[in-house]
This record gives sequence, structure tokens and C-alpha cells, in this order.
Amino acid sequence: MDFNLTTEQQQIRYEIKKVCREFPDAYWRAIDSKKEYPEAFVRKLSELGWLAALIPEEYGGTGLGITEASIILEEINHSGGVATACHAQMYTMGTLLRHGNEEQKKRYLPKIATGELRLQAFGVTEPDAGSESTRIQTSATRQGDKYLINGQKIFISRVLQSDLMLLLARTTPYDELKDKTRGLSVFIVDLREAKKTLDVKPLDLMINHHTNALFFDNVEVPVENLIGEEGSGFRYIIDGWNAERILVAAEAIGDGRWFVERAAKYATERIVFGKAIGSNQGVQFPIAKAYANIEAADLVRFQASTKFDRKEKCGAEANLAKYLASEAAWEAANACLTTHGGYGFAAEYDVERKFRETRLLTIAPVSNNLVLAYLGQHVLGMPKSY
Ligand SMILES: Cc1cc2nc3c(=O)[nH]c(=O)nc-3n(C[C@H](O)[C@H](O)[C@H](O)COP(=O)(O)OP(=O)(O)OC[C@H]3O[C@@H](n4cnc5c(N)ncnc54)[C@H](O)[C@@H]3O)c2cc1C
Repeated sequence: MDFNLTTEQQQIRYEIKKVCREFPDAYWRAIDSKKEYPEAFVRKLSELGWLAALIPEEYGGTGLGITEASIILEEINHSGGVATACHAQMYTMGTLLRHGNEEQKKRYLPKIATGELRLQAFGVTEPDAGSESTRIQTSATRQGDKYLINGQKIFISRVLQSDLMLLLARTTPYDELKDKTRGLSVFIVDLREAKKTLDVKPLDLMINHHTNALFFDNVEVPVENLIGEEGSGFRYIIDGWNAERILVAAEAIGDGRWFVERAAKYATERIVFGKAIGSNQGVQFPIAKAYANIEAADLVRFQASTKFDRKEKCGAEANLAKYLASEAAWEAANACLTTHGGYGFAAEYDVERKFRETRLLTIAPVSNNLVLAYLGQHVLGMPKSY
């Protein structure tokens, strides 16, 4: 496989780097300390069309592939920013693109492409189901030409910053199902209309991701907002998992490169005991080791994204990439923090912020244990562990 970037891909990298220079460390630091949403950054990316990367040209997007989308997210994190503020549009887009009907695509995609509508919220996780998504209980009950949604979700990000949310809800009770992966359906919830019956409670978390607990009390969703067939929603979500894992891997690679570059620079400039701390192998080797692991993970990421864009099976590669990249980024984060000594804890160095942000990637949107479970069962053929 040839992983050399095409001229167009190199140009995308260059353009994203250029935009990100307008949003330096100080911007992200202030956003983080005030727990704000990076509105100006997201608006700018939308105006330039980058968040419409995965929307086909016929609906007003740029019709790029996962490889290009992953380069966009990677460079945001590499610049010192955090792509999670706007990645959901790319993560969730596939469900609407692959399973939405023509009317839904025409209704939403052109406006999402221009930034007029924001689809940055994706509601799956529930307190009692956790990683076992087929156990979710939030229900969608058909009543005439609408569904009534009732229940509770946890850790749902960017609900207050979005116009639309993709929601996974139960349309058949769990006990009535032979196949437990059925009975769930995906809806587009118009958050502007749902406000009165949807209670959004922001959560105070270690990172600034605008994450909430949601309480649905007869939230009305018109039947025309059901995506695809009733009962097939979990399959639609699974269809998006490879893309999601590749995009997370790219974000982790971006973080990893940021940590390694910052660590190498600081290690070269900081003089203690009369010499640069980076001349000590105890400081230099952990940085070099993290660098090696990030570069290796990056190759698997491009292998996965190339196969994805060629429409080849890539479950193994996508899961490998997500696992390797998020672990390598976390290793780089630790090396960078250690290299900075006490200054690693000072907000003005940005290391502690990025440290917190990158830690999430080993847990969400899917925890690395479940990624290993995929590799163990589906790639290595071992017995199911859950
Ligand atoms: C900042 C943030 C933002 C988020 N945003 C969203 C969002 O926008 N939308 C959304 O739907 N969700 C979101 N999530 C939720 C996230 O996807 C979940 O937290 C994650 O999938 C893990 O689920 P859980 O927290 O319930 O952990 P649990 O499922 O309770 O797992 C706890 C631990 O046990 C391990 N574990 C569980 N079962 C097994 C097993 N069989 N084998 C081995 N290990 C196992 C897990 O790996 C994990 O380490 C967000 C979470 C955070 C923290």
C-alpha cells in the first residue's frame, strides 16, 4: 500500500495548519479555563467547508474520504486544539448518509454543509447500559405520526451547541427480542423543538467537552425523522464504527505529535545541572519511544483509512489503529508531562490541558478494552468475553 499523501491531501494538511494558526494555544487555554465552546473556531471551519468534508458534493459538501477527514481532525489536535469540539459531525454523518432517505438528506445535509444547522450531538450512552449499548432503555413509542421519547442518557456531548442530535432509542422492549441487536432505532432529534420536554443537565467533567445528562419526558419526534427501518438502528450505528475508530486514531496521532514536539523542544532548551535535560537518556528515550509508537500507529491508521476509502473490509485495521494511536498518545502525554517537570502542571504550558484531553481517547467513544475484545474475538477467533 502506498501511504504517500496525494497533492490534494497535502494541500488539506497545509490549509488546516493555516487555519489553526489563527487559533493559538492561548485561545484553547482560555476556552478550557472558562469551559466555553470554541464557537469561533467551529464557525470558521464550517465557513471554510472543512466540517462538510464527508458530505457528498450533490448535497453541498466536499465529498472527501475518511483519509482526508482524518487529516483534518489530526491537524486540529496537532496544532494544540481539540477536534472533539466538532468531530461528531464527521462521526455521525455516515448514519444519515448511508441509511437516511432522500428527503432527509435533502432536508438536512445542505444546511449542515453550510453550517446553518449543527449536528454535533450523538445520544447513545445510558447510565445502566454503559458499554453494552444493546441494553439501552430510552424508549421511542409510536403515536400516530410521531414518536414519544422517554428515558435518560448520560455523557452526551454538545447538545446545547447543536441544532440536531442523532439518537439511539428502543422501539421494541428488550425481553420481546430474540435477536438483542434489534429493537433499537435511530432518530434525528431537532433540539430546537425538543427544548421544552428535554432536560439537559451539564456535567462537570475533567475535560471541557460540553457533556450532559439528558432526561426525555415525552419528547416528540415526527415519524419522518426515523432513519432507515424501525428496529435496525443498532446495525446502522455499528456500520459507523470503523469510520469512528479511524477518526479517533487520527486525533490521537495529532495529540501524540504535539506532545512529542513540545517535549523534544523543552528537553533541548531546559538546562539543569549545566546541560540540556534532553541529553540525559532518562529524559530523551521516553520521548523517542513515544515517537516510535506514534509513527507505527500512524501507518496502521493510513492502512485502515485507505482500505475504508476503497470500500474494503477494515474492522481489524480500524480497531488496531484506534488502540495503538490512543495508547501511543497517552504514552507521549506522560513523557511530555514528565519532561516538563513541575511546569507540566502549569496551565500556561498547555501540557496539562492536552494531557487531560488525550486521556479520553482511550475510553471514549469506545473503551480500549472493548477494542481488544473485538481483536480477540473477531480477528483472533477467541471465545466471546461478554
Ligand atoms: C467526555 C465524554 C464525552 C462523551 N460523549 C459521548 C457522547 O457524545 N455520546 C455518547 O453516546 N456517549 C458519550 N460518552 C460516553 C462514552 O462513550 C462511554 O463513557 C464509554 O463508551 C464507556 O462507557 P461507560 O462509561 O458506561 O463505562 P462502562 O461500560 O461502565 O465500563 C467501565 C469500565 O469497564 C470496562 N468494561 C466493561 N465491560 C467490559 C468487558 N466485557 N470486558 C472488559 N472490560 C469491560 C470498560 O472498558 C471500562 O474501562 C462520553 C464520555 C465522556 C467521558
